Amino acid sequence: MSCYQAAWEKLFKYMDIEPRLLPPSVNGFKLDPEQVRDALDEHTIGVVCIMGNHYGGQYDPAAEINEVVEEVNARKGYQVGIHVDAASGGFIAPFQQGVPPWDFRLNNVLSISASGHKYGQSCCGTGWVLWRRRADLSDHVGISVSYLGGKAHSYTLNFSRPASGVYSQYYKFLHYGMTGYRQCNDNMMANAKFLRDGLRAMTHGDKPRFELLDDGDEHCLPVVTLRLNPECEFPYDDIDWQHGISQHHWYVGSYRMQFNHPVSEQTLPLFHDAGAEESMFRIVVKTHLTRNMAEHLLDSFRATADFFDAVDFSVIPDFQMHHLRHKDQRRLTNHC
Ligand SMILES: *Cc1c(COP(=O)(O)O)cnc(C)c1O
Repeated sequence: MSCYQAAWEKLFKYMDIEPRLLPPSVNGFKLDPEQVRDALDEHTIGVVCIMGNHYGGQYDPAAEINEVVEEVNARKGYQVGIHVDAASGGFIAPFQQGVPPWDFRLNNVLSISASGHKYGQSCCGTGWVLWRRRADLSDHVGISVSYLGGKAHSYTLNFSRPASGVYSQYYKFLHYGMTGYRQCNDNMMANAKFLRDGLRAMTHGDKPRFELLDDGDEHCLPVVTLRLNPECEFPYDDIDWQHGISQHHWYVGSYRMQFNHPVSEQTLPLFHDAGAEESMFRIVVKTHLTRNMAEHLLDSFRATADFFDAVDFSVIPDFQMHHLRHKDQRRLTNHC
């Protein structure tokens, strides 16, 4: 899917892998199983499902994609497997009720990755990958060394790695336990809902000021993704909004709905049904965002709205031109 995280761009480039990037709909941000069916061929190495993309926090429908892969494998004699990129969702989805199966319960899921340093709450650089079977990690790439006193297996590009992340993760596992991680999840999801409800209630005239683009209040990451309501026809965009909010010391990441194709280097639309110049922004809720802070963030949104509403953009000479020129500059810096 085109909503992949930059880590995948490295894989494509370093390992010379041709990605088949399927653009989802802006009304969902999810891999479409039918598009997957059409994209599979005899050269396919595997299918990646993202459990929580970094744009909107939605989970790809892994169970449905598993069925498509099963059917195509049976019909064509392929052995295509699924990798689940649970970098963010790996420490969220297991603590949510009613998420459809996305892990080794699905027979074609062969490997799962998760970042310890995101919702695992370890320190930066800690990541995990699990294989369904030992045999699926080829001995050709899984290096075994014996000169450090006993056998050690390694599957990393660099060799020496700090152990601090593992210790930090171990401490968090023991400190929180399953109950603690579940409580953290529930708090973050409740704060994300609190923000969504507050943002949904903000209006401009008789119209909602924002359009919410994320997956709602459950079965997704605690990420709130939205854009200024296009119907309001504001003379500024979501990227200006990020700058407005930053005056209140909040960093709310805004993006254009575009990505840089890792092979052709072309700038392409992220979604099949939204223009590459359109924009959005997101709030990532983490454990340290307290309810008081969430209230302050909503107040900052209100203050930013009041500030922008009080400006008569028509009297600012060259605003439109200046604004567009500005946009051009930002395009170079804003797609990570
Ligand atoms: C963060 C992220 C990655 C990269 O993981 P790191 O642990 O930072 O290397 C990959 N995929 C997704 C969906 C991510 O959110």
